[in-house]
This record gives sequence, C-alpha cells and structure tokens, in this order.
Amino acid sequence: MGDVEYLRSKLTSHIDFPQKGIVFLDIFPILRDPISFETLITHFLHHLTSHTIPSIPSKKIDVVVGLDARGFLLGPIIALRLGAAFVPVRKKGKLPGACETASYEKEYGVDSFEMQSDAIKPGQSVVIIDDLIATGGSAKAAGELVTKLGGKTIEYLFIIELIFLKGGSKLDAPVYSIIQSD
Ligand code: IMP
Repeated sequence: MGDVEYLRSKLTSHIDFPQKGIVFLDIFPILRDPISFETLITHFLHHLTSHTIPSIPSKKIDVVVGLDARGFLLGPIIALRLGAAFVPVRKKGKLPGACETASYEKEYGVDSFEMQSDAIKPGQSVVIIDDLIATGGSAKAAGELVTKLGGKTIEYLFIIELIFLKGGSKLDAPVYSIIQSD
C-alpha cells in the first residue's frame, strides 16, 4: 500500500458532526499511531524538499505558518525538520502584543484570525499548513496576514482537500494536499 492510500485508510468520517448535514473527516487516528504520523510528516517533508516541484523553488522555506487549531499539531514538527520558524495564526484575542487581523466567513457569520506583527520579516518565504481545506476561507485569511507582514506564501499544505468546494481557487499560491475527497 502506498503512503497516500495508507493515510487515507486511517481517516474516519463522522456524520452530522459538529452539526447536522456535515460529514466531518477526523485526522486524529493518523496521529494516534506513530507509524502513520511519521508517514504523514515524512510525506510533507519529501514534498517540500523535492526541488522538482514547480511550486517550491529550490529556495529555502523561512517560515511555516500553522492554523488554529490542528495546524498547530503539524506545523511545528515540519518547521523543526526544515530548520524554519513556526508561526501560529490564532483566533482573535488569543495572542499578546501587536497583531494583524484578517476576517473570514464561516458557516454562520464572520470570524477573525490574528498573527503577531513581528512574526514574519519582509521577503521571507512562507508555507501555510492546516489539516483540511473546505471553502478556503480560513486559509485565505492566513495568506492575507502573511502578505500584510510582507512575507511571500509559496504554498498551502493540507492533509485533506475537499475538492468539490474549490477552496484552492481563492488562494494566492498553489495548494498541495495529500488526500483529495469528494
Ligand atoms: P474552510 O475555511 O471552509 O476551508 O474550512 C477549513 C477549516 O475548517 C479548517 O481549519 C479545518 O480544520 C476545519 N474543518 C472543516 N471541515 C472539517 C472536517 O471535515 N474535518 C476537519 N476539519 C474540518
């Protein structure tokens, strides 16, 4: 079994969670097993360090940005292995000091993300990571924060992409997802 198939086999789906009509894909079974967790991280690392991929120039990645909350479980490990900085994007009101803010649409109403204003230096190369892209609204807001700080997003990374929602079309850089779901 290839690693994509193996990781897909670990996912579980939960009907009507967190609300009726939603089928929630859970990545935690991947993290529960050290073999599949290592497979996941190695897959991302191999992708990011393979210079044959056009979206990742042979240029160094300076910063890995992780989205609140499951991006925090992946981003720091990948950042450490790349020798890059890890920067969190958090829900508004959680980060101390001066912050930039960007809003995004949720199923109901609007929410806001923040990033500390000194977290990225102008010109730095950034990858943004989360567990799943649905409409792309939250990833787009994270990308706006990187731009506000003068960083350059070179790729968005996800374990799962809900391709029918075409969230990637909202973003200012290519998407790399390991598992595509209908
Ligand atoms: P978007 O902003 O519509 O792209 O939604 C993506 C955000 O919602 C991410 O932070 C995901 O963690 C979360 N999300 C939406 N659907 C799911 C799901 O089925 N499983 C896990 N997370 C989800």
